Amino acid sequence: MSEPVIGLEIHLAVRTASKMFCGCPAESFGLEPNVNTCPVCLGLPGSLPVTNGEAIEKAVRFSLALNCRVPERTQFHRKHYFYPDAPKNYQISQFDRPVGEHGWVELEGGRRIGITRCHLEEDAGRLVHPAYADHSLVDLNRAGTPLIEMVTEPDLRTPEEARAFLTHVQAVARALGVSDASPEQGKMRADVNVSLRQADGGLGTKVEVKNLNSFKSVAAALAFEIRRQGTLLEEGREVAQETRGWNEGGQRTYLLRSKEESADYRYMPEPDLPPLVLERAWLERIAHTMPELPGGKRERYLALGLRPADAELIAFDVEVAAFFDAAAAAYDGEPQKLANWLVGDVAGLLNAGGRTLAETGLRPEALAAMVRMIDDGAISGKIGKEILPDLVAGEAPNAVVARRGLNVIQDEDALAGLVDKVIAANPEVVASVAANPKAINALLGRVMQESRGTARPDAVRRLLQQRLGLETAG
Ligand SMILES: [Zn+2]
Repeated sequence: MSEPVIGLEIHLAVRTASKMFCGCPAESFGLEPNVNTCPVCLGLPGSLPVTNGEAIEKAVRFSLALNCRVPERTQFHRKHYFYPDAPKNYQISQFDRPVGEHGWVELEGGRRIGITRCHLEEDAGRLVHPAYADHSLVDLNRAGTPLIEMVTEPDLRTPEEARAFLTHVQAVARALGVSDASPEQGKMRADVNVSLRQADGGLGTKVEVKNLNSFKSVAAALAFEIRRQGTLLEEGREVAQETRGWNEGGQRTYLLRSKEESADYRYMPEPDLPPLVLERAWLERIAHTMPELPGGKRERYLALGLRPADAELIAFDVEVAAFFDAAAAAYDGEPQKLANWLVGDVAGLLNAGGRTLAETGLRPEALAAMVRMIDDGAISGKIGKEILPDLVAGEAPNAVVARRGLNVIQDEDALAGLVDKVIAANPEVVASVAANPKAINALLGRVMQESRGTARPDAVRRLLQQRLGLETAG
């Protein structure tokens, strides 16, 4: 048997107001082409880069959150290569002094995945290939926007684990406000490398799959490569060292290029930017203003008594976690009850409407108040499900219940009236109760129906037993 050995290289678009080395706005998604450009990010001669302090701070924060060592000095290098959407013919990146090194992430179950390095660099522009033309167009809005490149040790073993790792990193980036980390907007992209280690411990040949733009594609590409390489080895053939692409439609990888000489990028220290000294006091201030991270949240939720799967789901979604915390602060019952609603009916409603929590009118206090009403017996769980869409539309639970007349019948007289009505309307069932005590359930069902589900079944049963002279029955 062979074992997959997987490493990831992840690019995250850093959320900053301006680009990495100039004052142009950093947002490039969905804009007219080339509106956010200037002499620096167009690579015009004589222009000089200025480092964006916000990008440095965010990259440092991210590195610290991933348990990386942050050096006292960090430095930018020029990485030379030609590509039509990189107008300077080099990219300002980092080489031997990245902002973070030697970190790790602990996955659920305690598996530690090593992080080789996190460095900052500038993104390239975009080539557009219009269907109507025999040429390509260049859009430089994205050129010069800040990117964090993060490289892992080859510690991952399965496609599922790679996916869990990506979800973890995404949640950390979002919790810190470092990146939107949205693959669908190209703000989180991954390359993977995978080889098969033989039973005798011999390392396999590494294949890289580039430009995967969803977590699902990462898992699917890895599963395909593990199968492909496994088949080659079983047939006694060799795995070639190569770079492959991913065909989403065909769900398979394809050859992009076979191994060339490793590229010589002629890295040189960026002469226009002096090395940056990261002062200890500044680093400590960042370390002390770190928000709670998803891993810590998960632990806190487990301590509150949440089921592990729910703790994981809530902790690793920044928005849901903030909502849960606010609801739990407004509720003094068992937090798991709130979690049940959040990961169950609320999530179901959001999925059905293709919305996020923020895009609805649901307030944490409203959910807490509704669960409290159920605890108090003011409404049943069934009524809770019925009024949830009104809460999602922004109403308060007591207002919906009053407006729709859904109060559980607490009034014994009103309930007794319903019970008498049902007894009078069903003489043959009443007659059979003496011989068959279970027939009382048929009457109970009709009273519940009459009350439109708002009566409390235990109270109805007690009244029926009284009226039919069955008080001693259980
Ligand atoms: Zn610019």
